[in-house]
Amino acid sequence: MPAALLDGKTLARQIRSELAVEVADFIENNVTVPTLTAVLVGTDPASEVYVRNKRRDCDEVGIQSRLHQLPEKTTQDELLALIGKLNKDDSVHGILVQLPVPKQIDTELVLDAINPLKDVDAFHSENVGRLMQGRPRYLPCTPHGVLELLARNEIPTVGQHAVIIGRSDIVGKPLSVMLAQRGKDATVTLCHSRTKDLPSVARQADILIVAIGKPNFVTADMVKPGATVIDVGINRTDKGLVGDVDFDAVREVAGYLSPVPGGVGPLTRVMLLVNTLAAARRLEQ
Ligand code: NAD
Repeated sequence: MPAALLDGKTLARQIRSELAVEVADFIENNVTVPTLTAVLVGTDPASEVYVRNKRRDCDEVGIQSRLHQLPEKTTQDELLALIGKLNKDDSVHGILVQLPVPKQIDTELVLDAINPLKDVDAFHSENVGRLMQGRPRYLPCTPHGVLELLARNEIPTVGQHAVIIGRSDIVGKPLSVMLAQRGKDATVTLCHSRTKDLPSVARQADILIVAIGKPNFVTADMVKPGATVIDVGINRTDKGLVGDVDFDAVREVAGYLSPVPGGVGPLTRVMLLVNTLAAARRLEQ
């Protein structure tokens, strides 16, 4: 029997409608509206689409969104000055700097300049440190989306062997920590480009999560029959958007499989809204 699909699109719609109720309740009980400010430097078309989608999501749940679009040649000091202003602006609860920023700007410096209480992407080093210690302020959006996709489909993690392929700071690394945390209690293996005999490691996974950015990288022989496979990859190809998993072949082996598009992506977007509401609650209490 082919794998059951983990439908992130429908789940994200459901979470947005739950959030809309919570946002309305917040607005009724406070003098402000939860507000997310996005900062976009330059005119990268993919980044423009991401920011536009994030703003549309905000509209749908009643979160106010603002955009500062700065020219490609913006200096680091100019960007830091804007972040300083947004940090002090009490009407702004969440600040998001769309990555990547142009070469003349030091990404880490910029992310660390954001007030950690307004850091709804959870990329500030203080928030990353808190996550490591098991006392997160906000959860990073993509790993949180993966956990939600598992939890809401009642796929257990306790005692399961989760193998993650890809060790980036925004997906693989934080997800490995979150899955190993008390409550999730998975046994985690984190793989990367130097991992030896990756197929045999991947085959041990009860839950296989792939985030590397290589189309159709995970083939059917890398998947244990019945395993849950979460495809985080987004690759633009001649055939449109595809993930890191060979979807048709792996579907014949896996128990559950998340599609691309329509799997993890919509949940990543919704988790930004969750964090913005959490930031508003924290800052207005
Ligand atoms: P990245 O591009 O920063 O890093 C890639 C990682 O993959 C590295 O850790 C590297 O060691 C590993 N890797 C590369 N080739 C490998 C190989 N042959 N074998 C094993 N490991 C290998 O990673 P990223 O920013 O996490 O992005 C990964 C993919 O996930 C991209 O396609 C990106 O577009 C996508 N992504 C999707 C979402 C979403 O919401 N669905 C969010 C973030 C990223």
